Amino acid sequence: VLVLGIETSCDETAASVVAWDGEGRGEIRSNVVRSQIADHAAFGGVVPEIAARAHIEALDHIVARAMADAGVSYDGLSAVAATAGPGLIGGLIVGLTTAKAIALAADKPLVAVNHLEGHALTARLTDGLAFPYLLLLVSGGHTQILLVRGVGDYERWGTTIDDALGEAFDKTAKLLGLPYPGGPAVERAAAVGDPDRFDLPRPMTGRPGCDFSFSGLKTAVRHAAEAAAPLSEQDVADLCAAFEAAVTDVVGDRVGHALARFRAAYPGIVTPTLVVAGGVAANRALRRRLDAELTARGFRFLAPPMELCTDNGAMIAWAGAERLALGLTDGLDALARPRWPLDQLAAPRIGSGA
Ligand code: ATP
Ligand code: MG
Ligand code: FE
Repeated sequence: VLVLGIETSCDETAASVVAWDGEGRGEIRSNVVRSQIADHAAFGGVVPEIAARAHIEALDHIVARAMADAGVSYDGLSAVAATAGPGLIGGLIVGLTTAKAIALAADKPLVAVNHLEGHALTARLTDGLAFPYLLLLVSGGHTQILLVRGVGDYERWGTTIDDALGEAFDKTAKLLGLPYPGGPAVERAAAVGDPDRFDLPRPMTGRPGCDFSFSGLKTAVRHAAEAAAPLSEQDVADLCAAFEAAVTDVVGDRVGHALARFRAAYPGIVTPTLVVAGGVAANRALRRRLDAELTARGFRFLAPPMELCTDNGAMIAWAGAERLALGLTDGLDALARPRWPLDQLAAPRIGSGA
């Protein structure tokens, strides 16, 4: 099968064509992404109205390029997939409506994809990974640990009770005067910082379960920054290093609980896999920690290439291909859903609004 995938849920306008023969991994025929980071940088975060307008302006060209790069015609497609949620409503409507128009004009089935399912299934596209496995999703909008049991079959084991991890990086950067997006800036500063000079809390560690919390940590950074003001470059570096060390400890602790729970649930799987996704997966300190934690417990650490960890059309095309193979297509009346928890995929998705 050959599926066109469209992603417009946040600040990337993306389209991709993925091929799959129904077994093993898929093949990415094209993968075009336009990041809106520059459009939002001046505001220190994603502005929904600007995002929606930028998607409208860019999407036609992005789709045309994805089709041209792949060398296919609309006629040659098996289906058209688009992110239907969760995400910013304006962008979702732009992408989903475009997909509907193409599906209608080319007489192809539509697949309304859950963005999180796109992240969850990416390791099957890249590595043909077999179910079940664990997913750690750490992005600007999400921080979750998921059990991936099958297509449309997920259990959320942990989530953040306040800020997402990427959001915590971005807010910390902002209060330290570093540019947006904050993750890369904090990582760069942390590289020359002393992680032990400031003592920051490790929220949730030692508690049962896999939930996260980062807002208290961000507040602790603010207090430490205020106490040390005016901040020298070295102060900022030391605060960033302390922040990175703290979040790394928190994620290591939470993931540790998930690994133990997975072991108990699937004692027969000798070397289970944990996959990472989301922009924060680019963070080297976090990767090193995860690698160590997983190796120590006999798990395999799978990190897809960075361009497939962040938002992209290939993951949506792939999720579309997997759903198509199971006959899980959608009507042209499918609705965009700003809120759409992954464990509610089986619920009726047509006409049910949020
Ligand atoms: P979502 O995908 O959940 O809708 P999003 O589009 O904001 O949200 P991504 O594009 O996957 O998420 O990731 C962006 C986030 O990743 C930002 O918060 C950014 O600060 C963070 N990030 C990027 N690189 C790094 C890094 N090296 N270290 C830490 N965080 C990083
Ligand atoms: Mg993004
Ligand atoms: Fe995402």
